[in-house]
Amino acid sequence: MIRENLETVRKSIPSEVLLVAVSKTKPVADLQEAYDAGQRVFGENHALEMRDKHEVLPKDIDWHFIGHLQTNKIKYIIPFVRLIHSIDTFNLLQAVNKEAVKHDRTVDCLLQFHVAEEETKFGLSLEEAEEILGSDTFKELRNVRICGVMGMATNTDDQTQIRKEFHHLKEIFDTIKTKYFTDCEYFKEISMGMSHDYQLAIGEGSTMVRVGSKIFGARNYDI
Ligand SMILES: *Cc1c(COP(=O)(O)O)cnc(C)c1O
Repeated sequence: MIRENLETVRKSIPSEVLLVAVSKTKPVADLQEAYDAGQRVFGENHALEMRDKHEVLPKDIDWHFIGHLQTNKIKYIIPFVRLIHSIDTFNLLQAVNKEAVKHDRTVDCLLQFHVAEEETKFGLSLEEAEEILGSDTFKELRNVRICGVMGMATNTDDQTQIRKEFHHLKEIFDTIKTKYFTDCEYFKEISMGMSHDYQLAIGEGSTMVRVGSKIFGARNYDI
């Protein structure tokens, strides 16, 4: 079913929006099936799980890290990760930079914002982000590149609410772009939208959607 699901999802997404296939908790065979159907961009939310999958799967996969990243796990993904969506503290960004230096890499990152109503979701406020971006310490980080923003909407059926939160994230993106990245062509990504709300996210300006269960089926457990 994965091939069919992928085709359905792809058809529902404009070609300029990147589809990140969220394969967390799913076995390597499922990822291989998606790969064989042409998918090259995968999202994982556990560092060791992503490293293990990276080791056995084809090397032309773009690995996106989308979950809460603990600083002591950064080292497992830095050698190969293509984009970290979930920078939610300055400390984490500095730790990623430090590890990237060791590997002589520049690692692309997104700042994760808290735009949902739920208290549990990780993420920065605009004020916190501005504190980071305006600081001298940030300007000295040579091995990370901030390419945009990421966020999750409230888990609700209320479409007006979801749309409002995605719109808010787009506004945050615009504010930051204007203030800190006007001339940076690489600051262009808005990662928003999951299986149940990616159409709304695209409507509000998403450039990357992170779709899991609609491709791979429901997860038995959420880690
Ligand atoms: C699990 C997860 C997704 C995908 O969720 P689905 O509802 O299965 O599409 C997207 N983004 C993040 C950050 C996730 O943890």
